[in-house]
Amino acid sequence: MNLILLGPPGAGKGTQAKLLEERHSLRQISTGDLLRAEVKSGTEIGLQAKAVMDRGELVPDAIIISMLERQVEGATGTSTAGFILDGFPRTVPQAEALDAMLARKAMPLHHVIELQVDDAALVERISGRFTCAKCGQGYHDRFKRPKVADTCDVCGCHEFTRRSDDNAETVRARLEAYHRQTAPLLPYYAANGLLRVVDGMAEMDTVTAQIETVLAGSHGSGTEPGQA
Ligand code: AMP
Repeated sequence: MNLILLGPPGAGKGTQAKLLEERHSLRQISTGDLLRAEVKSGTEIGLQAKAVMDRGELVPDAIIISMLERQVEGATGTSTAGFILDGFPRTVPQAEALDAMLARKAMPLHHVIELQVDDAALVERISGRFTCAKCGQGYHDRFKRPKVADTCDVCGCHEFTRRSDDNAETVRARLEAYHRQTAPLLPYYAANGLLRVVDGMAEMDTVTAQIETVLAGSHGSGTEPGQA
């Protein structure tokens, strides 16, 4: 099963992708995570991407598409049951490149799931995010603090990191980029019958349950509940 999670920054795509990855043996492919790894390693791509990411803008399509191609290539023939794209595609040219790539490999796309969240909620959600520096477990200043102060619930590590682009000013630019460049993908995927809408404002478990309902259902006939 191959999926795309669509939605603005802070909608919960990464969190839900991690849960789906475990439950369904899928492989999460997050272009944001891949770019952050490039930045951390100081590669040529990382050097080009860092300033763009810190401004909250989108990294050029050509860089993203070739990075993604390498990942999908790497996922082919492995034991995973498919992939979850998290943060890709973000522009219509990226979606077209993905279609072409999947067609070449005769790989189907099963669902495109939009997590719908109000802009006002997103700034607060994103500004409070932090993650365990060792295992990557996500936390939030208001909504999900570690059970024991300064200690990761999962691995016991005491070190945490915050993304440099998770500040109020950059978040606003990222939301603007979402509405201008990524939202046009919604009619793109609605037109081919793949788009399903989930209420991303609900509690995390409820969002997961809504996604599971989509995955359990059929797709492509254009009549199921939840379809855009
Ligand atoms: P994310 O972790 O998905 O929120 O992505 C963080 C940042 O990485 C974004 O604000 C963009 O600057 C960049 N980025 C991630 N994915 C893409 C993409 N598919 N296209 C262009 N830029 C991207």
